[in-house]
Amino acid sequence: MSEPKKLFIKTYGCQMNVYDSERMAEALGGQGYVETQSPDDADMILLNTCHIREKAAEKVYSELGRFKGLKADKPDLKIGVAGCVAQAEGEEIMRRQPLVDLVVGPQSYHRLPEMEAKTRAGEKALDTDFPEEDKFEKLKSRPKATRGPTAFLTVQEGCDKFCAFCVVPYTRGAEVSRPADRILTEARDLVERGVREITLLGQNVNAYHGAGPNGDTSLAGLIWELNKIDGLERIRFTTSHPNDMTDDLIEAHGTCDKLMPYLHLPVQAGSDKILKRMNRSHTADSYLRLVERIRAARPDILMSGDFIVGFPEETEEDFQATLDLVEEVRYGYAYSFKYSTRPGTPAAERPQVPEDKATDRLHRLQALITRHQREVQDDMVGREVRVLFEKAGRLEGQMVGKSEYLHAVHVGGANVTSGDLRRVRITASGANSLAGELV
Ligand code: SAM
Ligand code: SF4
Repeated sequence: MSEPKKLFIKTYGCQMNVYDSERMAEALGGQGYVETQSPDDADMILLNTCHIREKAAEKVYSELGRFKGLKADKPDLKIGVAGCVAQAEGEEIMRRQPLVDLVVGPQSYHRLPEMEAKTRAGEKALDTDFPEEDKFEKLKSRPKATRGPTAFLTVQEGCDKFCAFCVVPYTRGAEVSRPADRILTEARDLVERGVREITLLGQNVNAYHGAGPNGDTSLAGLIWELNKIDGLERIRFTTSHPNDMTDDLIEAHGTCDKLMPYLHLPVQAGSDKILKRMNRSHTADSYLRLVERIRAARPDILMSGDFIVGFPEETEEDFQATLDLVEEVRYGYAYSFKYSTRPGTPAAERPQVPEDKATDRLHRLQALITRHQREVQDDMVGREVRVLFEKAGRLEGQMVGKSEYLHAVHVGGANVTSGDLRRVRITASGANSLAGELV
């Protein structure tokens, strides 16, 4: 039997890329590849890239440059670029970095096996189409090996919202939902393999409207179906847009026992002027009223969000409105970014906020968010939570898992294994995690 070929995948960016990398590894598994954790012994290196952050493409080019030595030592090594930078840059990647053999966009990676064969024949392979066929349909069967207790499952891709700062509608394309029965089959397969918590993914996951037995299914409808799967204990979803937070989804947060009390609901800014210029089509007040309704349905829900500071023409007064909104919501987690231009997006052409001002605002916002995050975490001390244990901790005999609220919880000296779901009393709150003991 010939030695298996080795595949090294480096994943950048969001959870959707984590899911895509898993599926790419499975697709190439059919070509005799097994995954390796080191690029040094790989026969193929794939960079699964993200285009959201500043100078994303430049960072990919410099990472590729580092593989020059490896390729010189091992001429058979194949190097590929996948994900949103692949989609945005296309052929330009091979022109600027000739050591790249393969470029594949996020909608066409089901074609990886043929593309890999092409590279083995000494040709370059490029595919950044938005093909008619559904990649998930082509990649229907997934391996049966057991796996860890948590998994991502992409249910929706692309976005039609066109926020003025964002490249997603251009790199991931128009909004598409997967049919409900395919998702349920995949979820049941995951549960058979040991998964107990599934996070449904989509750039705009709550806009989900996949075909179901009685017409289109909403995200809430899908969650209720998943709720019936024996052995599945927890359901989460991310990322949601405020305008797609429908009544049935809010209600599910109060009534669906497997749906976890955590919601990532980005608002981006607190000033209506800026929200309008961002093309967000909601106001600060409509967002706050929405949070109120969600909290009325599920009072202990932990809110999380995304913010952009230094958006073109943001004044100190606009920024203050963002701080005010944060004060009012008191997020348990929040991610904040300095605006950075994305060529081709509407905001790229507008007057930019000076760098030092934007940096100062980012620091001030992050200080406030960190304070709230810490307070919300500290409030857990003395409470009982349910922890889904995932892996061993750094200390001898310690296990780590996540609470309902997505806090990491360490428990020492307990007789638990990965996949166990146990009640834990929180005894201490650290910098980024909690400690507790089994009840
Ligand atoms: N779909 C989600 C939503 O509606 O907010 C978020 C998608 S995006 C992948 C994740 C986050 O990156 C955004 O919420 C935003 O805060 C940030 N982001 C996107 N484009 C950005 C840009 N040009 N500059 C800075 N941050 C950006
Ligand atoms: Fe980007 Fe999210 Fe806006 Fe869509 S809704 S354009 S993914 S920020």
